[in-house]
Amino acid sequence: MKTITLIPGDGIGVEVTAAVQKVIAATDVAITWEIVNGGEEAYKATGQYIPDALLESISKNKIAFKGPITTPIGTGFKSINVTLRQKYNTYANVRPVKSIAGIKTPFNDVDLVIVRENSEDLYCGIEHLVTEGVAESIKVITKKASLRIGEYAFQYAKAHGRKKVTAVHKANIMKISDGLFLDCIRAVAKKYPEIEYEEVIVDNMCMQLVMYPEKYDVLVLPNLYGDIVSDLAAGLVGGLGLVPGSNIGEDIAIFEAVHGSAPQIAGKNLANPTACILSAAMMLDYINEKAAANLIREAVATVIKEGKYTTTDIGGTATTEEITEAICDKIKRQL
Ligand code: NAD
Repeated sequence: MKTITLIPGDGIGVEVTAAVQKVIAATDVAITWEIVNGGEEAYKATGQYIPDALLESISKNKIAFKGPITTPIGTGFKSINVTLRQKYNTYANVRPVKSIAGIKTPFNDVDLVIVRENSEDLYCGIEHLVTEGVAESIKVITKKASLRIGEYAFQYAKAHGRKKVTAVHKANIMKISDGLFLDCIRAVAKKYPEIEYEEVIVDNMCMQLVMYPEKYDVLVLPNLYGDIVSDLAAGLVGGLGLVPGSNIGEDIAIFEAVHGSAPQIAGKNLANPTACILSAAMMLDYINEKAAANLIREAVATVIKEGKYTTTDIGGTATTEEITEAICDKIKRQL
């Protein structure tokens, strides 16, 4: 029996993490969930945005499943998401973006893996007002973190039979910071001659992706570009309700969807739980429960392809609970 920390999060987080619990319960994998929240709700209850109990739980269990957490814009507390990634040094944010049969989009052959550096760049949050009307934000790129994410991307490509890694950058303008990132990825690429390597400037990458997404395989990016390109890529396959993710460190991993807390649809039983359910499948892969992970992916694919129980974001009419039940039902039939 594995114990895993569950952070329900804010907004739709409660609904989509409940879906994850139900789907895993439908498999034959036994998990004990240690439920501890972070963010605004946790602050109201404990006076801490990241309660000590949450940190203790993640440190002990080494694996967490996280719902999205709301971050105030332009003011207020530092992102809990970024804080947890930095605290546990989950340096690789891995986001597979794949077309799903049954969802109408301009493309049906998208199969990308975004490997986003997760520990530095502008997310260090080093910013200040230099003087009234002038603000400065510092972008930190280090050799250590860039080599580490490059190594992760190529190792991932090798382990998953991927053919090409594309480094995404803006080293034409940020010659020193993005230049360092690129130098590091190039150095790693030399160690993997069997994997094709190319470099694309981030603005061009955005255009290439919305025109020819099938040309790309594994993308490795610094933190901010990785964040933006992830949402763009999610749009190629039907939206944020579908794209899973994981934050991988040396010995701790936190699994979460790419999407945020979607306050507009929170509490309405409208959220698409697919992204979180597929993140749960990634978590099962990570703990070597590959058969159950595949069962979940197959059940999701079948339910979406059949189209009877799909949520409104992908053109259906089903509620969060209905699609979750349909996925659980498919899983139970296969056991
Ligand atoms: P968002 O991802 O919450 O929503 C963007 C759009 O996608 C909205 O139209 C939303 O309704 C839709 N959407 C997202 N997830 C969906 C789902 N599962 N099913 C159906 N539709 C879905 O992004 P935002 O509005 O920019 O951010 C809202 C809040 O979430 C902010 O406070 C932001 O900081 C936070 N956020 C948190 C995380 C995280 O916890 N990792 C990630 C991104 C944003």
